[in-house]
Amino acid sequence: MSGRLTVVGIGPGNEAWITPAASAAIAGAQDVYGYGPYLNRLLTRPGQTRHATDNREELARAVAALSAAATGRTVAVVSGGDPGVFAMAAAVCEAVEAGPPDWRALDIAIEPGVTAMLAAASRVGAPLGADFAAISLSDNLKPWALIERRLRLTSEADMALALYNPASQARGGGAARAFAVLKECRAAGTPVVLASAIGRPDESIVIRRLSDCDGEGVDMRTLIIVGSSATRLVARPGRAPLVYTERFARAP
Ligand code: SAH
Repeated sequence: MSGRLTVVGIGPGNEAWITPAASAAIAGAQDVYGYGPYLNRLLTRPGQTRHATDNREELARAVAALSAAATGRTVAVVSGGDPGVFAMAAAVCEAVEAGPPDWRALDIAIEPGVTAMLAAASRVGAPLGADFAAISLSDNLKPWALIERRLRLTSEADMALALYNPASQARGGGAARAFAVLKECRAAGTPVVLASAIGRPDESIVIRRLSDCDGEGVDMRTLIIVGSSATRLVARPGRAPLVYTERFARAP
């Protein structure tokens, strides 16, 4: 089959964080699929068709993009951050697995992007500088009981956390529920970073202690980093503290 589909990560916000390879994949596509606001961040060239879809319809978008590629088109599917992190690349793989056999012969590529947790971490120091886990707090695709179990077990394992999808009207306040669980299993003084709209003009970073976190100040554009017992603040004159997780760890 001659069609080609590339799932392209465009980073968390600012254009300077889009890789040259990602830009080239978008520029070379005949059809570009993605969530409307993401498409609006991109330049289009003449002759290129944009297909804006709702953010919640990831599988339908993957099927539409694969169907176009199967007719011989060169297709790009754009995804915020990295397409492999809670995003379109897995939806495309799922669609290929369940789809017609000829989709398996398509040329499929993934172009990585800067994921939100790395952009957020870079703003404050190195909170993810030792072992960490990334967890989505959305219970759209998994039960809350599993999210809670993962929060508890990563706390027992003393790993820092990057928490995606912390809130939205439809999801009933994942951040508030997560903080309630984490307060039971991590020290009250654990550093927490609330990083919102990183790379965008309205970016904000708030550093708190776990005991002061209740989900307030968190929305669907926030990435939360929760420290381990080895995460510390380094005070600096006239500057925000550095937040970092020590590279050395002792035996449990
Ligand atoms: N594929 C994306 C994540 C998609 S899930 C990535 O790799 O970053 C959507 C979640 O990502 C949001 O709810 C938020 O937690 C996080 N996120 C995405 N962009 C962000 C940004 N600019 N600033 C902070 N968090 C962001």
